Amino acid sequence: MTDADLVVTGGQVYVHGQLRDVTLGVTDGRVSHLAAADGGLSGDRELDVDGSVVLPGCVDAHVHVRPGDDREGVDSATAAAAAGGVTTVVDMPNFPPTVTDREVWDEMAALYDGTARVDYSMFGHIAEGQNVGTGDITELAAAGAPAFKTFTSAGGGPDPYVVLDKGDLLTAFEEVAETGRPFWVHAEDDEYHVEFIERVEEEGLTGMDAFLESAPPILEATAVRDLVDLADYTGVTTVIAHTTTAEALDIVADAQADGVPIYAETTPYYLGIDAERLRDIGTTGLGTPPVRSPANRERIWERFDDGRVDTMATDHAPRFDEEKDRDPIDVGPGMPQLETALPFLLTAVNDGRTSLDRIVETYARRPAELLGLERKGRLEIGADADFVVVDMDAEWTVDPEDFESRAKYSPFDGWTFTARPVRTYVRGTEVAVDMEATDATPGERVERAE
Ligand SMILES: [Zn+2]
Repeated sequence: MTDADLVVTGGQVYVHGQLRDVTLGVTDGRVSHLAAADGGLSGDRELDVDGSVVLPGCVDAHVHVRPGDDREGVDSATAAAAAGGVTTVVDMPNFPPTVTDREVWDEMAALYDGTARVDYSMFGHIAEGQNVGTGDITELAAAGAPAFKTFTSAGGGPDPYVVLDKGDLLTAFEEVAETGRPFWVHAEDDEYHVEFIERVEEEGLTGMDAFLESAPPILEATAVRDLVDLADYTGVTTVIAHTTTAEALDIVADAQADGVPIYAETTPYYLGIDAERLRDIGTTGLGTPPVRSPANRERIWERFDDGRVDTMATDHAPRFDEEKDRDPIDVGPGMPQLETALPFLLTAVNDGRTSLDRIVETYARRPAELLGLERKGRLEIGADADFVVVDMDAEWTVDPEDFESRAKYSPFDGWTFTARPVRTYVRGTEVAVDMEATDATPGERVERAE
């Protein structure tokens, strides 16, 4: 008889906020032991990680999986997640078909069955004219959506994903309040957005200038202030998706200090790329909202490190090459980030910019907590045995051709990182080795604890 199904030996395991020399025991997919390194814990299988760091698997609450779409899909998105050390992905399903009712939710959820390499769930999407005040929001929660998402700006274009009308937005918040779920919002003020697009045209700006000037920081600040009021008024746990400015982070942090249930997410993109770098990269590096000044990027780093960023996510959003090869104002925004996020953040630890604590807190523990995923985001007895073994001393250069994602481009193309995930486990099953997915598809849908 052995003590556990799997024992992970020789690691510095991140437990209760510290790296400890412990042997991790896994039984029935859960953490069953955290034993003294020399305690002789035995397992049917042993993984000796030879001094590497073992972190909780990352929980990414903002991934455009695009199930059934040729830009990505469940197979390649979850392979990219596994490769990048991400053990739970929550899909933001705004791409057609947009998940705005239970029928579509069930249809999309079926595409994950037996094909997901990591655990998963899907947001319910909220859009005016589609599912505000229809009862669909309640039904999506009943179907299993752990959270909701909408956008507050369409920038004047036709956009099936948004809630622009304030009455509808209030109603949506009230309906989400009844579900007890959190609400992620892409926060840009639409009226200002329309105004700045007009000004850009009047001024004859073109290229990257037109894109960057069409959505300046005031759009985000104004929308975030409104959302603070809505979160306060309705009590809905509100998360500002991919926050881009230090100012917006400060608005959220101040409101939070006043007891408002509002949180800020950002992505490695806004920590790594700024307007100057975007001009060098070109349209493949274009995402929305726009990146800002280099000085703002430094100020986001400070706020990430001091706790004013609550959650990290990738906003992994693959595009076809032809969607990127356009005039900046018409580019399909977004980029794959699942395979660069953790290496980028770990490299920042090596560079002394931040700590492992901040990474585990924002990219594992906090998103799991916001989503109500009780057994995710930390390594403790009874938690799911989701972990990533990382080599903190591995210099390598990003080549998007190596990605598991179907999207073979990256704003971090050619960057040198000094750390990388070397093995990823989902509930005790190995799903990636040296940033390549294995054949295992243990992924299951995660449920919010009531
Ligand atoms: Zn997104």
